[in-house]
Amino acid sequence: MSMNTQGRPTRADGAALSDTPTFTGNKALQIEEALSFEIGDVARTGVDLAEPTGGAHRLGGLHRDSDIGLPGLTEPETMRHFVRLSQKNFAIDMGPFPLGSCTMKHNPRLNEKVARLPGFGDLHPLAPQSAVQGALELIDRLAFWLKELTGMPAVAMSPKAGAHGELCGMMAIKSALDARGEGSKRTRVLAPESAHGTNPATAVQCGFTVEPIPADSTGRVDLGALKEKLSDDIAGIMVTNPNTCGLFERDIRAIADAVHEAGGYFYCDGANFNAIAGKVRPGDLGIDAMHINLHKTFSTPHGGGGPGSGPTVLSDALAPFAPVPYVVHENGVFHLVETRRAAKAETSGADSMGRLTAFHGQMGMFVRALAYMMSHGVDGVRQAAEDAVLNANYVLARLKTEMTPAFDGFCMHEALFDDRFLEGTGVETIDFAKAMIDEGYHPMTMYFPLVVHGAMLIEPTESESKRELDLFCNALLSLAKRAKAGEVEPFKAAPIYAPRRRLDETAAARNPVLKWRPEAQAAE
Ligand SMILES: *Cc1c(COP(=O)(O)O)cnc(C)c1O
Repeated sequence: MSMNTQGRPTRADGAALSDTPTFTGNKALQIEEALSFEIGDVARTGVDLAEPTGGAHRLGGLHRDSDIGLPGLTEPETMRHFVRLSQKNFAIDMGPFPLGSCTMKHNPRLNEKVARLPGFGDLHPLAPQSAVQGALELIDRLAFWLKELTGMPAVAMSPKAGAHGELCGMMAIKSALDARGEGSKRTRVLAPESAHGTNPATAVQCGFTVEPIPADSTGRVDLGALKEKLSDDIAGIMVTNPNTCGLFERDIRAIADAVHEAGGYFYCDGANFNAIAGKVRPGDLGIDAMHINLHKTFSTPHGGGGPGSGPTVLSDALAPFAPVPYVVHENGVFHLVETRRAAKAETSGADSMGRLTAFHGQMGMFVRALAYMMSHGVDGVRQAAEDAVLNANYVLARLKTEMTPAFDGFCMHEALFDDRFLEGTGVETIDFAKAMIDEGYHPMTMYFPLVVHGAMLIEPTESESKRELDLFCNALLSLAKRAKAGEVEPFKAAPIYAPRRRLDETAAARNPVLKWRPEAQAAE
């Protein structure tokens, strides 16, 4: 058996090894888990309760006349099923999760503890306002700090994700244009080619047409090309800063001025705020609206589809159109402005866009985000940003000996590589990313941003220690060397050690099989 540089046993013939079949399908303690429908039986039940008798039908005569068809399992089978499933999810609590642009940082346990306090955990959104003054105060306090950190006068707290915050901001821009009587004239929105897909999608959703702005040779917005696209039909611009190449847009003030001069608004995608929180205030950069991903920058848990929280800060020009409900503090009492009419009275006639969500937003995430802010303090938030940038630059500096950075110079919170270092090896970005799974790492973001060929975007965040970063870098350096040494096969076969090997992701997305059917099983 050979050892790698970390002193861990490796085998070059790993593929053959992992293909050795076992009777159960298990791979040592990696246990094969069937669907509950396959291991359970509809004719069995895991509980021993008497058939209910009596009881009035309260569904107006509607009643089920066929079996519900749920599989019965014993309690230990049920426990094992769900615990095993939970272990099939990779999580930030299991290892580094270097997914660029996603800021997969540690979720401090303190936040979790505070969010579970009964006074927060047991809240009901329809509780009388007099009974939830503390919760309303918490929303107000978090809003205060978000405004303080961004240097913006207003914030809409209810958006439930980054993309939802974009919708909020772009709807506010649409409302402001309508109020100016220019809604039908100003229909064009500009977005860099490197933009996150949600940016153009949001603009289109709001009825705008989207035009790309090219990047210059340093990976930033080409200011000259941008200015050429400005005219009196511009509604606004959507720019991410730091951008999705992990670079600070140096011309951001000039961009804001040019767009404002043309009569448009500046939407900033603030998903990457972790790199600059406590260092730069977006309000000082001429921004009109920006969402903040609490689930990225402020460490509320995410992955697996949620929950997100995307409060959106608004400039004076857009604040009057903010969604309801929102919290106001008057005469020592917190209350909610809940209707457009009430908002109109508050804002001397401007028209709120109305509700974006049923209630106030993601309360559990608000509690966690405020706990994060208060436990870090202003200096701690700033240090987190600095450490996130330092960690990314450490990764960049170490990996550039074998991999090819997409752009010269330092990066912000994420390091972007292209696939030039794989040229001629037969190994592609996807193979390289899949091989990381065998090394025990969630792959980095790949093939995004689109402005770079075969992009690999690595965001370590401030959570990783130097020891973790070194292990991660050594693993990637070893993969890069193996690819260059001509070891194509293991890359093409990767992931070798994952129970399901390489999946056809395109087919899975195009033809998702979301329903279990006994006949489908039988046909196989
Ligand atoms: C994550 C992200 C978004 C979208 O945020 P969601 O909360 O996933 O909707 C938008 N833009 C950028 C740059 C992002 O990284």
